[in-house]
Amino acid sequence: MRVRYASLTAIAVVAVALVLGACGGDSTSDVESGPVGSGLAGTRNDLKSDDRLRVATTVAPITSILLQIGGDRIYLHGLIPPGIDSHTYEPKPSDAVILGRADIFIMNGASLEGSTEAIARTNLKDPSKIYKLADNTLSGDDPATGFLYDFSFPRAEGKPNPHLWMNPLYALRYAELIRDWLSENDAPNASYYAANYDAFKAVIDQLNAAIEKDSQTVPPESRKLLTYHDSWAYWARLYGYTVIGAAQPSDFKEPSAKEVADLIQQVRDEKVPVVFGSEVFPSGVLETIAKESGAAFEEKLSDDEPPGEVDAGNHTYVGMLVENMRIMLTRLGGNADTVATVPVGNTFGK
Ligand SMILES: [Zn+2]
Repeated sequence: MRVRYASLTAIAVVAVALVLGACGGDSTSDVESGPVGSGLAGTRNDLKSDDRLRVATTVAPITSILLQIGGDRIYLHGLIPPGIDSHTYEPKPSDAVILGRADIFIMNGASLEGSTEAIARTNLKDPSKIYKLADNTLSGDDPATGFLYDFSFPRAEGKPNPHLWMNPLYALRYAELIRDWLSENDAPNASYYAANYDAFKAVIDQLNAAIEKDSQTVPPESRKLLTYHDSWAYWARLYGYTVIGAAQPSDFKEPSAKEVADLIQQVRDEKVPVVFGSEVFPSGVLETIAKESGAAFEEKLSDDEPPGEVDAGNHTYVGMLVENMRIMLTRLGGNADTVATVPVGNTFGK
């Protein structure tokens, strides 16, 4: 079973205005997808000019961050649909069409989207307009400051853990890069992108402070994570938690019987209180580990899919983090009271 990652997709879909795919002519009729998220200003009526920057991206959290910066001044399309594993995603012919219409392509990088990058290089009007967020956020492999390698992303395979966005400060760096890249390609709207970045930064600063505070309410001996998909490494490094393991092997298949037995022993030895799975990528393995080890089982963490429907007020990157904290910190014996006060809606244009 694969991990939740696939879900990233979700966002993607969220995707805002899909519009990248729109063909010329009366663009108002192109805006099939209309507004994304409760605050998306990109209504049909707004999309009457055809000269907006067309931006393609991949997974849902990044699509949401991009929306906060680009707002209604860009056409935005997230390629990877919900319920699909982004680590193993194979682009569809329609993705090539969309990339062929995009002015720029912003991807996570860190080897997350290998196949999609190849399609982008072939189809993008200007292949130099491919931008990688993770690769411009971290470098090297210093365990304290660089890319991380671990069980699901072993150093031997040369592909680091790509889930930088689960760390709010790296998500903020993503937003900063996005602001700069959008401004380079669409200078007339640079001040709009800058203002949107400032608004997003204010919320991320609040979110980071809230997580710092609430994560300390978890008993120190319980600040340990065992998850199915290995997406919490950079979050854990920031907030002083230990990822004791992930159940999913590097090939994204199910772990072997021996690996499962080892994890059960580890959960027992380290007295891990809860094992965390994914609603989107259910696997019987974690439930088995929990049952055999005596740990509780929680299946609803999400690292790639914002909560609720596309038009829900919390269907955003920040909404996803807040919901995760509510579940995780509570289940580990703490609370998420401060995190619950963080505004979760779209911030662009405010
Ligand atoms: Zn993943």
